[in-house]
Amino acid sequence: MKLATFDAGTGPATGIVLGDEIVATGLSGTMIDLISRWTGVEASLRAAAQSGPRIALSQVKLLAPVPRPGKIFAIGLNYADHIAESHMDTPPHQVWFTKAQTSVNGPFDPVEVPAFAPFVDYEVELVAVIGKAGRRISAETAASHVFGYCVGNDVTERMWQHRTPQWSLGKSFDTHAPIGPWITTADEVADPHALGLRCLVNGSLRQTSNTGHLVFNIWQQIEHLSQAMTLEPGDLIFTGTPGGIGAAMDPKQFLKPGDVVRCEIDGLGAIEASMKSVG
Ligand code: MN
Repeated sequence: MKLATFDAGTGPATGIVLGDEIVATGLSGTMIDLISRWTGVEASLRAAAQSGPRIALSQVKLLAPVPRPGKIFAIGLNYADHIAESHMDTPPHQVWFTKAQTSVNGPFDPVEVPAFAPFVDYEVELVAVIGKAGRRISAETAASHVFGYCVGNDVTERMWQHRTPQWSLGKSFDTHAPIGPWITTADEVADPHALGLRCLVNGSLRQTSNTGHLVFNIWQQIEHLSQAMTLEPGDLIFTGTPGGIGAAMDPKQFLKPGDVVRCEIDGLGAIEASMKSVG
């Protein structure tokens, strides 16, 4: 199932995407509520998908599928070609940082380029959405804790990222975590470690890779994070970006107002943002 948060003019609601149409779930509450109640509501959602009134996707606004996740964690240096272009060594431990909840952005909404922090860059990433809560989850059972997957762009302001040892501020500007266009439930993703992913800027291919190249795979990531903390429904895990970032180009290419960044992953859809200048 493909599950979206959308607004048809009456405020945020959850819906089921069917081709180029969407059916409201009829459930009150947010996507996190839906995920938390999944075993109790799945059958009614499958029925709604069969018989509910359909609205053209073009008639609604798609919002971030999880508009306010409890946590957003992102792993750094997790594709070999990105480690090489960053002139780093493969880290012995998984390198984690957070992105603020308030950085979440809709799949087609503008991304801000602040005048005082103009070194904005893209990072296409597979995002795992946690379903069943858990702590000290083993890699062997981690798949059962994933609700689904979506496309993410780990937008980064490189000056703020690198002028201190801690990356979180440079990763947390408002609008710098676009996700979507919807969540594809895990049962529809045959192998999350075999998905082609790409990032294009103004139609030019910048990043192209496959999630099969992750250094630490998704199950290892969940095992590691959950050693420290409880993972909860709707928590987001950005699983790393491949090589091709603008900061590693010669000369460096940062995103300028008006640029259009498209991130796509096989089977999960695409998100696309225009860069917007802000003071
Ligand atoms: Mn990243």
